[in-house]
Amino acid sequence: MELTNKTIIVTGASSGIGAAAARLFASEGANVVLAARRTDELRSVAEDIARSGGRVVWRSGDVLDEAYPAMLTELALQNFGSLHGAFNNVGVVGDMAAVPDMSIDNWNTVIATNLTSAFWAAKTQVPILKEQGGGSIVFTSSFVGFSNGGLPGMAAYAASKAGLNGLVQSLASEHAADGIRINALLPGGTVTPASGEGNPDALNFISGLHPMKRMASAVEIAQAALFLLSDRSQFMTGSPMIVDGGMSVRLL
Ligand code: NAP
Repeated sequence: MELTNKTIIVTGASSGIGAAAARLFASEGANVVLAARRTDELRSVAEDIARSGGRVVWRSGDVLDEAYPAMLTELALQNFGSLHGAFNNVGVVGDMAAVPDMSIDNWNTVIATNLTSAFWAAKTQVPILKEQGGGSIVFTSSFVGFSNGGLPGMAAYAASKAGLNGLVQSLASEHAADGIRINALLPGGTVTPASGEGNPDALNFISGLHPMKRMASAVEIAQAALFLLSDRSQFMTGSPMIVDGGMSVRLL
């Protein structure tokens, strides 16, 4: 049990990587606080965890609402009396379009959802972890916007995730002395609703980009998040941790 009695916020917990992470963290002894917009999906993940004996609370909301991170930390403190970490995992790909054809609305939505929401999450979570003597925060970034991840049509997404990596480095250096570790997790292609789950052509294309010639399962990425949140990674902070089936070192 890697997270016994630790209270962890998981955002983007209604599907994909976040739902897998919520289930995994709870099975490793964590109290989990789940967040996303879709109420029915979030409730269903929470009920699943509770049925398996996990300790879970949830509140649906939108990360574009600046007040949402504080509602989640309050929920953690009210129900479990503590906060030890967060897996800030929300993300959207947005419209696939070359920059001249991309709308400013799409640009703004992707940057706000993937990057500005991370700023608000950190502003809320860091002071609470500092008060409690430390903790671990993990942000889900991406292979896109890093190394070999320059994919056409994904400029807003790439810029948001590259920005997130920079935010993580500054945050990590600001708060290492407070005992707060802050890392970015950079998954390769992962089979989830966001990557075309159920669309064999999309999955084949993305699989082919990886030297392993396959995509990750959501659970494989959740296991990496578990490592970053647990004490097993206690000397890691400010890392862009790549979990990408070799994508970043491929030659062609
Ligand atoms: P997903 O299943 O679509 O998960 C995205 C999650 O974010 C959902 O739970 C969604 O829930 C939530 N979300 C989106 N916008 C939100 C908002 N405004 N407010 C609150 N919640 C919001 O896709 P995923 O692949 O698991 O994505 C998880 C993370 O991994 C993202 O950051 C993504 O960029 C990153 N990633 C994915 C891949 C991949 O190949 N799948 C690769 C690299 C990185 P609601 O719709 O219910 O709000």
